[in-house]
Amino acid sequence: KFISFEGPDGAGKTSVIKILGDELQAKLGNQLMLTREPGGNSISEAIRQIILDPKNTQMDARTEALLYAAARRQHLVEQIIPALDRGQVVLCDRYVDSSIAYQGAGREIGEREVWNMNQFAIDGLEPDLTIYLDIKSEEGIRRIMEHRTGEINRLDVEQLEFHQRVRQSYLHLQRAYPQRIKLIDASQPLDVVISMVKKTILQKYPN
Ligand code: C5P
Ligand code: MG
Repeated sequence: KFISFEGPDGAGKTSVIKILGDELQAKLGNQLMLTREPGGNSISEAIRQIILDPKNTQMDARTEALLYAAARRQHLVEQIIPALDRGQVVLCDRYVDSSIAYQGAGREIGEREVWNMNQFAIDGLEPDLTIYLDIKSEEGIRRIMEHRTGEINRLDVEQLEFHQRVRQSYLHLQRAYPQRIKLIDASQPLDVVISMVKKTILQKYPN
């Protein structure tokens, strides 16, 4: 069971995964693996450092997309596949859909190109279920400014348009893959969102 969590900034993905993860941990114990890229292996962590290094201001968008995909590949091989082989339930905070939305649409490389490049990286290993937490861009940005001062301190049109491209891309993906990607309205109160996420997971995996 491989479940990914996706969503634009401010959707509340971090809070949902934290609370749900704790609950599932209590129920499933070591049958659960909660992970996110780069996932703690040294190769992916090193790649991540390159992406995040503030000195690398000249990073080309395609370079960034390739590095995300390389870190993803190593995380998949070192962490996700072994966990699935052990029979664990894997909850992964962001996966390929994030690259399609953020690099493909947000940074305008092209969703198809990023998709194809990531197919090479994941070699067919798609999540069985993707929980997509949907939030309108204005509301997402408003939440970030409220809760994480500093992350986005200036609401300019460029940022709004970036976030709108990201969200539209997620919505397209959801419509293209409705069996895999389940949309949850993340503008609702956190407890409602969490119970809907649980319901969605239970529909897919009744026990
Ligand atoms: O999941 P989390 O909210 O921690 O994501 C942090 C940020 O990483 C996102 O807001 C996004 O800007 C960036 N990101 C990205 N491309 C990805 C994954 C994340 O730009 N493929
Ligand atoms: Mg977050």
